[in-house]
Amino acid sequence: MSIAVAPVPDGLLSRPLSHVVGAATARALRSLDLATVGDLLWHVPRRYAQRGQLTDLAELVPGEQATVLARVQQVTVRPMRRRRGQVMDVVVTDGHETLRLAFFSVRGPQRALVEGRVGLFAGKVDLYRGSRQLVHPEFLLIDASPDAGVADEALQFAGDLIPVYPATQSMSSWRLAKAVATVLRPLQQMPDPIPPDVARARGLQDRLGALRTVHDPPDRESLATALTRLRFEEAFVLQVELARRRAAAMALPATPRHGADSGLLAAFDRRRPFRLTAAQQRVGAEIAAELTRPHPMHRLLHGDVGTGKTVVALRAMLAVIDAGGQAALLAPTEVLAQQHERTLRAMLGPLAEGGLLGGADIGTRLVLLTGSSSAARRRQALQDIADGTAGIVVGTHALLSEQVRFLDLGLIVIDEQHRFGVEQRAALAERAGSTHRPHVLVLTATPIPRTIAMTVFGDLDISVLGEAPPGRAPIATHVVAVQDRPHYLRRAWERLREEVEAGRRVYVVCPRIGEAASDSPPAGATGEEDWWATDEDATTPGTAVLDLAEQLRAGALSGVEVAVLHGRMTAEDKDAAMAAFISGAAPVLVCTTVIEVGVDVPEATAMVVVDADRFGVAQLHQLRGRVGRGSHTSVCLLLTRAPSGSPARDRLEAVAATTDGFALAELDLLQRREGDLLGVAQSGRRSSLRLLSPRRDVALIGQARQDAVALVAADPELREHPDLAAEVRRMTGERADYLERA
Ligand code: ADP
Ligand code: MG
Repeated sequence: MSIAVAPVPDGLLSRPLSHVVGAATARALRSLDLATVGDLLWHVPRRYAQRGQLTDLAELVPGEQATVLARVQQVTVRPMRRRRGQVMDVVVTDGHETLRLAFFSVRGPQRALVEGRVGLFAGKVDLYRGSRQLVHPEFLLIDASPDAGVADEALQFAGDLIPVYPATQSMSSWRLAKAVATVLRPLQQMPDPIPPDVARARGLQDRLGALRTVHDPPDRESLATALTRLRFEEAFVLQVELARRRAAAMALPATPRHGADSGLLAAFDRRRPFRLTAAQQRVGAEIAAELTRPHPMHRLLHGDVGTGKTVVALRAMLAVIDAGGQAALLAPTEVLAQQHERTLRAMLGPLAEGGLLGGADIGTRLVLLTGSSSAARRRQALQDIADGTAGIVVGTHALLSEQVRFLDLGLIVIDEQHRFGVEQRAALAERAGSTHRPHVLVLTATPIPRTIAMTVFGDLDISVLGEAPPGRAPIATHVVAVQDRPHYLRRAWERLREEVEAGRRVYVVCPRIGEAASDSPPAGATGEEDWWATDEDATTPGTAVLDLAEQLRAGALSGVEVAVLHGRMTAEDKDAAMAAFISGAAPVLVCTTVIEVGVDVPEATAMVVVDADRFGVAQLHQLRGRVGRGSHTSVCLLLTRAPSGSPARDRLEAVAATTDGFALAELDLLQRREGDLLGVAQSGRRSSLRLLSPRRDVALIGQARQDAVALVAADPELREHPDLAAEVRRMTGERADYLERA
């Protein structure tokens, strides 16, 4: 739900490029995904070549498209061996390295390639007899021509900095520059989404000037000023939209839920076997207060693995039930939903048996609804949900289905939200059963990619559980370099056997499932894991669950019961595997990242991650969080074949060196493309950020946010700011997947 933006006629920036540049150029630009004038103007150079500073040719990577600035060192023309015609070999240099340019004809423009001339050369880097070459590269000579008769191409770029654009085979960097110039040259003015008073207060350059500068900068200083202006604009427009959505969401009605003094929550607190940590108490109070407001809560609860988010969420749910409402807990996978149901049932005891023999008088009913629930259970669950008998409903995205109607849904808890899109949140809100919106609490242990982005961009309020419950034994993590020390691998499996013999459980995590699993899900599989898990792609190289399980059964762990768990199993098989693991009937679980989030088996004390270098830093931290949940010392072994000193190996060493999730999140962020931050990677669309980097531009984003909030408070419909309104519309069109229905 959002407030309408005052309409304005579509202007200059949305004009199709085919109206402005030639048809052939427009077509070539399309191959770069550039369709409108705005697309082209914001397609800024990737880097700038400095006149007089030749490109380091040693850095060219075979197979990649490259644009280099180099000097012609030698030209050889010789006849072709088998055919008529001539071959032209040009060697260019950066002063140290050389690069060969091969032309299989000597036509007009190539005659200008004479010793000493400097130019841009673009093409795909090949290897020819062990040295790098470009075959038939596009080129543009940029030095003043020694031959006065030849038109001076150098004039094309005025300054010392020559823009180098992300280019393709069909569109060289300088042809792109020419197209940009064609578009920019006639412009006298341009609509500007930043209001003049904001621009003045922040000392920002005008928009058209900034665009001219980034596409042809006179010097580095002007370039920096221009980039700041464009980045601020991007941040500002985004923040205006977020502020508008936030304001709209805050204005919606919600039923205030005042807890009761002697209700379910009080009864639960009496039977709770541990004291809340100070952090749990603080966050609990924050949430309780917000639940009593007549507008919906939108809160993100971030806490590293094992900080006890579930109890906090459960207490919020109980407060809502005490106030006459229902609560839903949405989990990303079947395994997790089942585990949540078991955990909550165990924590609540008789309090979850309301209306049943042996249940507490004030008790409520806890129901589980997933894609694999039998028809009879499903019917019963739907009825309990609809008539309000079920106070707590735990489920997967099956809860989003049309048939689910709550009597009075007061609170939605979403576990591990990075698996759920904003749209799923909205879909569940629609099942609420009243015109009032439910309160929303999102739990996450993964501050990246979305959480850090939201801290900066923020469409949710954020609570942090910064402290783990006392008495946790630390997890010792070791990198095991299988290559260097083969006997370490034997030792790793021995270590697992020792844990098992001491009555503990161990996980063995692999990057893929294996060939023996058919490509399509078995009959009866819900497909829920496939719905989100991309890590189980069977084409990924690396050790497979099914292969390794066989090897371990036959070898290192013979005599030990080994269970297998992965996303292609049926729900019943998964449940059976988990049950065998939890009970200890099968103390070893060989699995994929299906256990990545939330699985809680306190007896698990060891984990081996095979081919650990195939996992991301944050993912490894999540995985490791599955052990060390009880009081026994735990160990996590990261097996890798990555050589010492490689980036992959360094990442693993970093994970081994700290258990600080925030520090690792930072590291992960540094290695991630910023565009992924808004979750676009998950939806398969291209990056939605053009120039902005949430990492680099934190301060600037903060300022933009401040200005945006003030502006939206004064003019929520942007009536006074038509240029801004147009820009917001343009942006939301591009980013609908992220912002839609927030
Ligand atoms: P996470 O934040 O990773 O979801 P959980 O909610 O699963 O963490 O809690 C991890 C474990 O710690 C659970 O077994 C839970 O019962 C236990 N726990 C939670 N809060 C406390 C506390 N205050 N004191 C002791 N144990 C706690
Ligand atoms: Mg959890």
